[in-house]
Amino acid sequence: MRYKSCEAIEQGIAFMHNYVSFCCNCSHEGGGFDKNPFLTYKDDEREISIDWAKYFKEKNIIRSQNKTDKPCQECRGCLYLMDLDWTNDNQKLSYFNFNHWKDCDTNCIYCGVKEDPGKTKIPKIYKTLENLHKLKLIEKQGMVMFGGGDIAFLPEFRDIVRLFKKYNYSFNIATSATHYIPALSELLKDGMVEVRISVDSAKEETFKKIKRTNYYEVVWNNMKKYAKIQKIPYCVRSKFIIIPNVNDTKEEINLWLEKTKASGVSSVILDTETFYYIKHRNAIPDSIFDLFEYTKEKAKEYGLYFLIFDHASQMLSERNNFLSEYYFFKDITQHKIKECIKKNIENNQNSLINKLLERINL
Ligand code: SF4
Ligand code: SF4
Repeated sequence: MRYKSCEAIEQGIAFMHNYVSFCCNCSHEGGGFDKNPFLTYKDDEREISIDWAKYFKEKNIIRSQNKTDKPCQECRGCLYLMDLDWTNDNQKLSYFNFNHWKDCDTNCIYCGVKEDPGKTKIPKIYKTLENLHKLKLIEKQGMVMFGGGDIAFLPEFRDIVRLFKKYNYSFNIATSATHYIPALSELLKDGMVEVRISVDSAKEETFKKIKRTNYYEVVWNNMKKYAKIQKIPYCVRSKFIIIPNVNDTKEEINLWLEKTKASGVSSVILDTETFYYIKHRNAIPDSIFDLFEYTKEKAKEYGLYFLIFDHASQMLSERNNFLSEYYFFKDITQHKIKECIKKNIENNQNSLINKLLERINL
């Protein structure tokens, strides 16, 4: 049946610091679910306790709402919300988003999460996932995303990865790269992961201003090491978050692309600072959009694969009123939505579907 939905509503779960939700998206007009979570959880030291019946019931409530002409408020304007045939016969989960810890030894000026390592308690997730496994609620061949915090400070990272490897999942991981993580390099060797490293500048002075750490050399070196061992090119991605009045110049972009290329990395991602975008969503200066275009062209000159990340994609789609041609395809290339699109090919010739098809070569 056709209705508005997304991968996260259909088969997703996001583990946040003290609640579960469908996703962690927040930069679209509806703002997502973080302000009013529908299910908080208890952590009794051994495992977190989730009322699964309630969780799946919430999904059905949102689905029913999205079948009406008044779709869920929290999802309003989200570029992941798509009018497709979402027929789904099972209640399994296949789209896991881990954001339940805040520990990180970087201190980015744009971060709304970070706590110093050890300052807050990290919920224990692994046993809960084992329970999901026993309940047969995990679908095969899905996707796992790690946000956080930094994975270097997530004690259960290895265990969670091991569990999902058994299910043949793809991984999508953000890391500050202040520490080299062997479990991550294993995933890269196996070609199972996309890793995003936000360096935000190739100038040490600017890096320090943004990251407020002295890890400049360490981060760029770790990115180089990860790129060297990746089985599939493009899996290691150098990310640049545009921060107005800090790094929003062509000079910064050029230096970043140059250093990325010299580090052996073949893929770049551009984004905007989340809170800046939320605050200025109706008054983003043209200079930011021009910088997107400039970066796209320059990346091409350098032979780098260019992508736009979530917030910038959202921003472009709102400005152009259609899906950005640089839409970030982390889910679409590898996941269920591909099936949905296939199902919809015959009936849909709209720009969204066509752009998706062009991009993922169905
Ligand atoms: S439509 Fe967007 S905000 Fe709503 S659940 Fe999906 S990803 Fe999250
Ligand atoms: S690396 Fe990530 S978690 Fe750490 S301070 Fe920066 S944005 Fe926050």
